[in-house]
Amino acid sequence: MTGRTCPYVRSILERAIEGGYNHLSALFGSESCAAMERMEEQLYLLHPIKNEDFFVTIIDPPMKGDQTNLNYYKAQLEKHVLRPMKNALGVDVSDAAMREAVDRFNEICDVITAIGEFRKLDNPPLTGYEFHVIQLVSEVCPHDLILPYLKDTLEELRSREPEPAFPFRARIVLAGSEIDDPEFTKLVETCGAMVVADRYCFGSLPSRERIEIQPDETAFDAICRHYLHWNQCARFMDGMKIDQRHSELLRLVKDYHADGIIYENMKFCEFWSYEKVLASHIMTEENGIPCCTIEKEYALGSMGQLRTRFQAFVESLEIKKLGS
Ligand code: SF4
Repeated sequence: MTGRTCPYVRSILERAIEGGYNHLSALFGSESCAAMERMEEQLYLLHPIKNEDFFVTIIDPPMKGDQTNLNYYKAQLEKHVLRPMKNALGVDVSDAAMREAVDRFNEICDVITAIGEFRKLDNPPLTGYEFHVIQLVSEVCPHDLILPYLKDTLEELRSREPEPAFPFRARIVLAGSEIDDPEFTKLVETCGAMVVADRYCFGSLPSRERIEIQPDETAFDAICRHYLHWNQCARFMDGMKIDQRHSELLRLVKDYHADGIIYENMKFCEFWSYEKVLASHIMTEENGIPCCTIEKEYALGSMGQLRTRFQAFVESLEIKKLGS
């Protein structure tokens, strides 16, 4: 893949070629963006994963959030996820099994949400970096193994003494494309701004909302409805989903008492670079919320330039506070 595509997807392909994914049975992908699609295609064409049973299955996710698109989404998941899970991997995809999985998912969501609620406090007992680590382990570790530790962490936080005074100079919402490295959150925080809300891919807002199964629907119906509603990927192009992204961000700024927003996008990410420009304009001009927009590499090599940008942004937030 050319060096002018998303470094995140290139790094996945690189790791596959190095043999880092030979333990996998399948790739459940989606045609989310062109770069992601190319990477998934290469996994299919080049067979870099040395596992005879490995297969690639890709859905075409919808671009709108209406009923027609919900039906299409269900059909895609049925064909490209449920059937291969059952037929190739022998996974139980019955309604009863899905209800059980939803219960387990909700349990972990409740714990992460309760931990995240502390970030609304004037002086939270945990940093954005610590929360980022907790959120990531909740996504990558087997739920039954990690849940007891997450519950312990929640209990510990209930009695943890925060710093005598709020140790940051500002509070910000971090929004944008893919971030799976807590060092990025740490970088923002060492520049003086606490990350109080994580509105990016692999963050918790959205992703840790409970799935509620209504009396008249199957678990599968509820899962599809839930994800189509809560998914706020910049790939969704219709007005309803664009408005939802903006109003949700405004809600986070208000609920988490943020002074501003940092919008980031992965280098060469088209969806988030469009979103970043439009949304930061709307947030600043129409809602009076200061925004800092940056573009970043996947690997955090040279951070000097970003550090300067973040420090300048924190200073501007402080000056604004002093002025008001
Ligand atoms: S960060 Fe952007 S370009 Fe990269 S995979 Fe996500 S949507 Fe695609």
